[in-house]
Amino acid sequence: MKPAPFAYHRPASLDEALTTLAGDPHAKVLAGGQSLVPLLSMRLAQPSALVDLAGIPGLDGIEVDEHGVRVGALARHSAVLASADVRRVQPLVGLALAHVAHATIRNRGTTVGSVVHADAAAEMPAVLALLGGSVEAASVRGTRTIAADELYLGPLESSLAPDEIATSAWFPALPPGAGVAFEEVARRQGDYALAGVAAVADDAGVRAGYLSVCEVPTVVDLTDVPAGGRGDAALARLDPAEDIHATAAYRSQLVRVLTERVVESALVSRRDRAGEGR
Ligand SMILES: Cc1cc2nc3c(=O)[nH]c(=O)nc-3n(C[C@H](O)[C@H](O)[C@H](O)COP(=O)(O)OP(=O)(O)OC[C@H]3O[C@@H](n4cnc5c(N)ncnc54)[C@H](O)[C@@H]3O)c2cc1C
Repeated sequence: MKPAPFAYHRPASLDEALTTLAGDPHAKVLAGGQSLVPLLSMRLAQPSALVDLAGIPGLDGIEVDEHGVRVGALARHSAVLASADVRRVQPLVGLALAHVAHATIRNRGTTVGSVVHADAAAEMPAVLALLGGSVEAASVRGTRTIAADELYLGPLESSLAPDEIATSAWFPALPPGAGVAFEEVARRQGDYALAGVAAVADDAGVRAGYLSVCEVPTVVDLTDVPAGGRGDAALARLDPAEDIHATAAYRSQLVRVLTERVVESALVSRRDRAGEGR
């Protein structure tokens, strides 16, 4: 199918983009287009206008310091994945991004676009939620920070207002001596996962984040749960969804197996990093 007709705007500044968005409640932001364009083509989205961020300078930055990683709205998945600084400061970002789609899609798709598209099957919303990250949002009314635990409201639904542009996403650094791990099961490398788990083990305990399991990215605290019981402990807090890709029973089994495996890997990674003084 072809998209329904829409107006196309390519603002040269963030202010111009925000004013354009504020003037049309049915307009949508276009970033990499890797999720939005298929939705337009299938007419599942029929915005009156697209406000393309591509002409706005300064939105493609990736800033890394010892506190964390700030990814600009136009930074492509591939650029974030290629950054050695990102891998050093928050290794979970790279571990998860390696599973996001295929190289051609990562070359156009943006990490911030993925975070605000709020697909519970996507890797980066689950990572942002697990790490307690946040999104910077701008509108003609000003700017605000949205914590990950206030961002995800439902399937493909974020708390970003229609007139807001997410200018960056913030992934906190991995504390010294902490460990992370990520694993997912997909039919083919690059496909959306049937289920995926990310885990962090640090001084505060052990937590796991789930993608493609529930209707929103979900974080479960598994501190003090002994090996062998982690999968069932996680399932007690999750409600695996059934869809055309997998039954709820199959997803539950993936949660059981992946949780044990990924938490164990995060604990091993923690021991390794502590041994290396990081
Ligand atoms: C075949 C295929 C396979 C894929 N597989 C995966 C996968 O395995 N895992 C995965 O995570 N993703 C996957 N994707 C999606 C891909 O990661 C997208 O790049 C990602 O969803 C981000 O979208 P984008 O930057 O392309 O944003 P767009 O498609 O341009 O936008 C997506 C949505 O977010 C909004 N938006 C985007 N940026 C902003 C912003 N800065 N401020 C406000 N709103 C904004 C748009 O209005 C739109 O509603 C796949 C895509 C395809 C086509």
